[in-house]
Amino acid sequence: MGIMALPASEIIEKDRNHVWHHLSQHSVLKHQDPLVMVKGVGSRVWDAKGNSYLDASSGGVWCVNVGYGRTEIADAIRDQVLKLNFFASTAGTAPAAEFAEKLLEKMPGMSRVYYASSGSEANEKAFKIVRQIAQQKHGGKKHKILYRDRDYHGTTIAALSATGQEERRMHYGPFVPGFVEFPHCCEYRSQFGDVSNYGVLAANELEKVILREGPDTVGAVVFESITAGGGVITPPEGYWPAVMEICKKYNVLIHMDEVVCGMGRTGKWFGYQHYGIKPDIVTLAKGIASSYAPISCVVTTEALFDEFIADSSDRAAYFRDVSTYAGCTAGPAAALANLQILERENLVNNSAQMGDYLLKQLVTLKDKYSVIGDVRGKGLLLGIELISDSKTKKPVAEEVAIKIAGMCMKKGLIIGRTNRSFTHFNNTLCLCPVLTLTQKEADFIVATLDAVFRELLESVD
Ligand code: PLP
Repeated sequence: MGIMALPASEIIEKDRNHVWHHLSQHSVLKHQDPLVMVKGVGSRVWDAKGNSYLDASSGGVWCVNVGYGRTEIADAIRDQVLKLNFFASTAGTAPAAEFAEKLLEKMPGMSRVYYASSGSEANEKAFKIVRQIAQQKHGGKKHKILYRDRDYHGTTIAALSATGQEERRMHYGPFVPGFVEFPHCCEYRSQFGDVSNYGVLAANELEKVILREGPDTVGAVVFESITAGGGVITPPEGYWPAVMEICKKYNVLIHMDEVVCGMGRTGKWFGYQHYGIKPDIVTLAKGIASSYAPISCVVTTEALFDEFIADSSDRAAYFRDVSTYAGCTAGPAAALANLQILERENLVNNSAQMGDYLLKQLVTLKDKYSVIGDVRGKGLLLGIELISDSKTKKPVAEEVAIKIAGMCMKKGLIIGRTNRSFTHFNNTLCLCPVLTLTQKEADFIVATLDAVFRELLESVD
């Protein structure tokens, strides 16, 4: 008997008894049923109890970019795994070669694709690349990797060591040495008060850290082009040109983590392309195959790749890294079909247009409800920062964000929220719907939020 054929109550019971959910406080599930999803079509998902939702979270963690139920991707996976399901990525396969070429067409300046299975894993590999270059080229210097407060780079110990979110790190130390934090660039939470050149001042903070650590020790800086889970933080005016100048000045590699911002999410193929950034390394996951199969990539320039093939007396001077599942062909087959859909349906453009439309509506909501302190984002990656006091910008308690997300769900809308509010940036609601979003669906999102904020206000009065 297939799982889908089981009655809802049985699925929920099996889940409650046997499954350990990610990032979840299971004590809550003693008093309520776990959420179990059973079906998705387009932008909608259904739970085991038959409730249907417009999913404005793209699968809860910003990854189902082309939407649910794509037969084309399922067929591509099926055809490929029947032909050849796997061969170790020490060799090539047809879909891996074909997808690499198609992907690089969208990334001028980039030249090589290294496969993996998750965002964290891709970032780990990028860190290893930086460390090996430090060893081979700089005599062990330039091994440090700087990361920004509020950015997230993954769940493994090294990726967490490069993550600027205390709420994700607490209880997991000690961390890997050689990762150093520099300050965030959230203008709404300016560290310098109300200034006209916030972007440049925020970038200068990076320079200060490079100088403090010693430029000859710093090999790379890792960034999200728009900070996603850390509060949907868009870079301020003037930030990126100043950052690029600083990295050039101190010969520091730029690693863009595009795990969320890639594949059309922000209204361009890649988030960094909004800002004229010239990365040395780009990491991708999530939307790369819209999560029909686990696949991630480390994409590098030819110059960086060359560091690993140049003639050398060191017999270990090639990238001595391997992951079994990088050789599973379901990933690149799915990614290729996914990219064809994004192109054919012009979804990157739709993300830009619907994103602008949604952002305008959110500004209207902000003018209406004082609990909304700031709205920001690009394309279909949007955030609503909630505050309890307009003057002090005091963040609302975590319970308020949880309550709002719950009220939305009761009205048939799934939104995201940044996780636990140990710090003041996790009071942000997130919208990242599938990139096929229509104006009617955007209107539903706004109308639902409007109704929820109104009810919230009335319940306080
Ligand atoms: N990088 C960013 C910016 C992310 O948001 C995430 C996950 O949310 C990751 C990396 C880690 O990806 P994964 O969960 O696939 O390991």
